[in-house]
Amino acid sequence: MNKKIVIVGGGTAGWLTAGVLAAEFAGGVEITLIESPDVNPIGVGEGTWPTMRSTLKRIGISETTFLRECSASFKQGSKFVGWRTGEPNDFYYHPFSLPPSFNEVDYHKLWCESGDVPFDQVAGIQSRLCELGLAPKTITVPEYAGALNYGYHLNAGKFAALLQRHCTEVLGVKHLLDHVVSVDLGDNGDIDAVVAENNGRLEAYLFIDCSGGRSLLLGECLGVGFIKCDQYSINDSALAVQLPYADDSEEVASTTIATAQECGWTWDIGLASRRGVGYVYSSAHSSQDQAADCLQHYIQSTAPHVSEQNINIRKFDIRPGYRERFWHKNCVAVGMAAGFIEPLEASALALVELSAAMIRDEMPENRAQMDVVANKFNQVFQYRWQRIVEFLKLHYVLSERRDTEYWRDAVSENAIPGELREKLLLWRSRPPYLRDFMQVEELFPAASYAYVLFGMGFVSSSDFSRKSDAAKLQQMLREEQKKFLNYQKAMPGNRELLTSIAQYGLSKV
Ligand SMILES: Cc1cc2nc3c(=O)[nH]c(=O)nc-3n(C[C@H](O)[C@H](O)[C@H](O)COP(=O)(O)OP(=O)(O)OC[C@H]3O[C@@H](n4cnc5c(N)ncnc54)[C@H](O)[C@@H]3O)c2cc1C
Repeated sequence: MNKKIVIVGGGTAGWLTAGVLAAEFAGGVEITLIESPDVNPIGVGEGTWPTMRSTLKRIGISETTFLRECSASFKQGSKFVGWRTGEPNDFYYHPFSLPPSFNEVDYHKLWCESGDVPFDQVAGIQSRLCELGLAPKTITVPEYAGALNYGYHLNAGKFAALLQRHCTEVLGVKHLLDHVVSVDLGDNGDIDAVVAENNGRLEAYLFIDCSGGRSLLLGECLGVGFIKCDQYSINDSALAVQLPYADDSEEVASTTIATAQECGWTWDIGLASRRGVGYVYSSAHSSQDQAADCLQHYIQSTAPHVSEQNINIRKFDIRPGYRERFWHKNCVAVGMAAGFIEPLEASALALVELSAAMIRDEMPENRAQMDVVANKFNQVFQYRWQRIVEFLKLHYVLSERRDTEYWRDAVSENAIPGELREKLLLWRSRPPYLRDFMQVEELFPAASYAYVLFGMGFVSSSDFSRKSDAAKLQQMLREEQKKFLNYQKAMPGNRELLTSIAQYGLSKV
């Protein structure tokens, strides 16, 4: 008999999860996705990680189709502006390409010896290519391959629509547009069925809660608690707008630009067809009107061709935190139903991909196995959430900004997680390295910490200086410089490449 899986929610989390599962299981499983016609998906979430490439490839969507239909562009990391001092020329990069041979080379020492060269430029070539507005590949590089590591900027609404079409037309996912009104529980506390307004009872072996921040099944129905993180992550609000480009020749940025502001930070994302811009802020430090003024100021300075009357601002509430457990009984939450924290490193969709992949890879054969898998899932994702909270906080704790109460509160002693404080203590005398992080699939490897720490000017110093192979190092640096010069000549601009792909498509090989 077929095993049934019911996914509640048709936002990005629901459709990505449906795609990941349906692409794997050839038979023996029936996947139904139910989404409410009365509750809109959140409709933001435009920055992804490089993981999205392998996810889409495995789901079976061509990269050309994806780029064309989702107005997507290439994202090569994030550029952080104004986080250290807020003065002009205060910026650093967290690029997606890891420094070559990161675990063998003391990049921190190289950086200290390099004078004024920023750490991201000492540790690789990607940030310099991003500054030049260049793409991570040429049109002849096959789909999903890249000369440099990249993820995407995409239109969230179009992305969900593409996934829906692919899931229903190619992968056989059953789609119901109906509102879940109640949930039937069995004697053992499992969910027996969700009850929909028009379709009645939908029974399943496994229920996946992708119902958004409300967490309809896991939170509301099964009563799994919520761990608040507002002590560490003080931003609880966001304003978002969509901006047209001045004209078809305006460059499409290769990174998300995150600019520190008075009471939070703005994001700036360049899609192929428009920009997505927003302000994430703390409502305890700024009213909505003040936040709108700050956003308006940013828009005027970066898009003077857009008049204030043509801007439609959307407001979002952020409740920073995550569920005590993510998989409980026969229900697992993915996406906003599992948790959310400010999108400073755009980690939400990456967590959706990782959650869906683990459900796929560890799909329990029977109910007894399910509790074992659930335990493992919960441990893995609790660890991941803790690392996210910690890594996002790292962007604030090293800031020298004290210009507003917001910045003073953001870096106060009790706003810093204990484990992060311990790590910072060790890093005072050595840079982050492999064994600081214990998982095989770390969300943020030691190199990511290094980009942020040293990008913010943090210095490690030790009495125990270590030997290094100077000749080998110089050889590697020469090769990197050669690569930079080659790429500088060969890579098209982001906009130029997107225009060619729209016309000719990428090679499928
Ligand atoms: C300001 C902001 C910026 C963000 N930026 C990024 C980013 O750059 N990168 C990133 O990775 N993430 C980002 N995110 C997060 C990202 O938007 C979400 O993780 C992503 O969209 C997934 O949302 P979701 O599918 O879990 O929830 P939603 O989009 O809220 O979908 C919930 C679904 O549940 C359905 N539903 C609800 N109730 C019922 C019911 N009773 N019956 C049936 N169906 C129901 C709804 O109809 C809907 O389809 C951002 C979030 C915010 C707020």
